[in-house]
Amino acid sequence: MQPVSGAALELGGQCDSTTVMVFTIKGGRVVDPANGCDAVGDVHVDGERVADRPGGATEAAVIDAAGLIVCPGLIDMHVHLREPGGEHKETIETGTQAAAAGGFATVACMPNTSPVMDSVETIQLVRQRAKEAGYATVLPIAAITVGRGGRDVVDMASLCDAGAVAFSDDGDGVEDDDVMLEAFRLAAQLDAVIIQHCEYKALSAGGVMHAGEVADRLGLPGLDPRSEEAMIERDIRLVRETGARYHIAHVSTAKAVELVRRAKAEGLPVTTEVCPHHLLLTHEACANRDPNTKMHPPLRSAADVEACLTGLADGSIDCIATDHAPHAAEEKSRGFLKAPPGIVGLETSLALAIEAVVASGRLSWADLIQRMCHRPAEILGLPSPSLGAGQRADITLIDPELQWEIDPAGMHSRSRNMPFAGWRVTGKAVATVVGGQLVYLDAAQSSRACGLISRLN
Ligand SMILES: [Zn+2]
Repeated sequence: MQPVSGAALELGGQCDSTTVMVFTIKGGRVVDPANGCDAVGDVHVDGERVADRPGGATEAAVIDAAGLIVCPGLIDMHVHLREPGGEHKETIETGTQAAAAGGFATVACMPNTSPVMDSVETIQLVRQRAKEAGYATVLPIAAITVGRGGRDVVDMASLCDAGAVAFSDDGDGVEDDDVMLEAFRLAAQLDAVIIQHCEYKALSAGGVMHAGEVADRLGLPGLDPRSEEAMIERDIRLVRETGARYHIAHVSTAKAVELVRRAKAEGLPVTTEVCPHHLLLTHEACANRDPNTKMHPPLRSAADVEACLTGLADGSIDCIATDHAPHAAEEKSRGFLKAPPGIVGLETSLALAIEAVVASGRLSWADLIQRMCHRPAEILGLPSPSLGAGQRADITLIDPELQWEIDPAGMHSRSRNMPFAGWRVTGKAVATVVGGQLVYLDAAQSSRACGLISRLN
């Protein structure tokens, strides 16, 4: 594992560090949509909070942010940290290091761990591990059903009290109508959000990639897009009946996007997310049978990609989430048919999102930041991210011009499964502040913050 950056680690890798940091992020382009701000300015940090003036120290440390974008800390509402039970793929420590290096101050983690996060004890364990080892705030998502078995709905009230921010059986959809209805009814009572992995196994079974001409050409079993769309249709009917808040994980087909658009127009509390890979790659990327292009939902057609881009731009798709899904090299080397689906995404998400929607002119920087920060916060019921005085100092610094090559070997995640190796991209998170602690500083960029580093070392 590569260290984040020696300096950053020493400065305050642990989110619960008691070191009080006082510094000013100077002369950056401050993009703070909650305060209607997009202008060059300074952001002052005093301890855990944003301050309205430089801190009390006579010579407060300074991060020179000239040329950088300064925004509220990014939030990824869909990651797999694999702990407990999958530590050979990722741990809370390595996964949150990857998050911090990707500019994410907060991640929400999925419950398909071992044991499954369906009990108060497991939620508490994850929160405790995150407190001890986390480089980002970790918000646990509890399972909808016991053991993710699809039969018995969990004790949602206790899990909410224990700190679960949402409920999902991600990896599987809840297929049984009665079970799903009960889950929606309970969630509505608690004002909790249900995140559904939309897939009917009867329609997708055996499929390893998008059903279409590429699968036919390769002779690989196709995965019918109806497996995703039919579950969304069923769920929207149940949302209409129960009023529950419903979030669709990793939307990927044109029809699915249209279903969400219509549900929103109807005024239903339906939201969705899209993954960067579904904005940039089509099923043609699977042509070389690279297992790193195998994911669920699969890479789709060019028309589906276009629909996702349009949906993200017009607000039908609320946010960008990675579905960061680490797998060990040995697991991914089993060939396209047998390799587990999924790719890591925390350290490439921002650059890929910039490429997909900012460089192409579909979204402004402020819009992108809303979709990677404010909308996920809103969906998860978190306080609205802001750089106003008194707010928690969760801050991401982005170099919008930095050109870099995606190199899996240089990543902080324990796993390296991604289809973007060798891509030349522009734009990168160069520093991440969580609760006033500088948890990541791009080593190559550290000269910008040398005043801070030298002073605090
Ligand atoms: Zn999923």
